[in-house]
Amino acid sequence: MDDAGMQSWIWPLPEGGASNDQAALDTRWQVLLGRGGWQAEVLGQVGDDALRLYVRPSAAAAAPRLLIAAGFHGEEPAGPWGVLQFFERADAGLLDRLQLTVLPLVNASGFRAGRRFNDWGENPNRGHGASADAPPSREGRVLAAHGARLAALGASGVLSCHEDVKQPQHGYVYSLERAERPGAFSHALLAANARFFPLLPDGDVDGCHVRGGIVFNRYDGSFEAWMMEQGVGRAACVETPGRAPIGERIAAQAAMVEAFVRHPLDGA
Ligand SMILES: [Zn+2]
Repeated sequence: MDDAGMQSWIWPLPEGGASNDQAALDTRWQVLLGRGGWQAEVLGQVGDDALRLYVRPSAAAAAPRLLIAAGFHGEEPAGPWGVLQFFERADAGLLDRLQLTVLPLVNASGFRAGRRFNDWGENPNRGHGASADAPPSREGRVLAAHGARLAALGASGVLSCHEDVKQPQHGYVYSLERAERPGAFSHALLAANARFFPLLPDGDVDGCHVRGGIVFNRYDGSFEAWMMEQGVGRAACVETPGRAPIGERIAAQAAMVEAFVRHPLDGA
């Protein structure tokens, strides 16, 4: 555990309330699920919290299968709020062309505290899969018990929504593709991020080489790297600047979710 993982970051939301208000997040999801089309389930318990999974099946058997995860780190609230905002406003005709699965809030105890790590000081986005260099978190153990199914649900792509609280203004993307260099998938996410934030200049970020706003094909024990090990076609972890105005961060996250869901339909 390090101090940065235990610091608290909470922002007032543009629509009122606070960025760590889990009850408000849950209530808005319940309203959305109540419109129909979704199947809700509990993957497992983490302390007193249910780790929830929402699936929106497609009538088309061959529809691309996409998995979107948010809230691994509790000081990065624009991810969970941005994913919710996208689905609240999305056109049903677009969603119907895909099979969509959402992990709306992986690290609930961290989210309520506005703190990166969970209540046990664990980093829920480390310790996954073959590239892990740390033991899995409690959330990671629940996800690991469902690894094959999660990979099937995200066979066409996995998106994990993050923020970087060290960044006052720049956005960037970690992407993983079965290719030598970033392709259309990475660039579609990057372009959506760049509509809101300038891209991080080339150099090092958290010990990784970032080039053109992308950290490419890094296997680091993260959820997204593990999903690639499990066989999904492509994966990304998008990063908005955690010190920028939160309304812009939420809008950017929603825009990146839209770019992610549109990608497999482009040219199809
Ligand atoms: Zn993060």
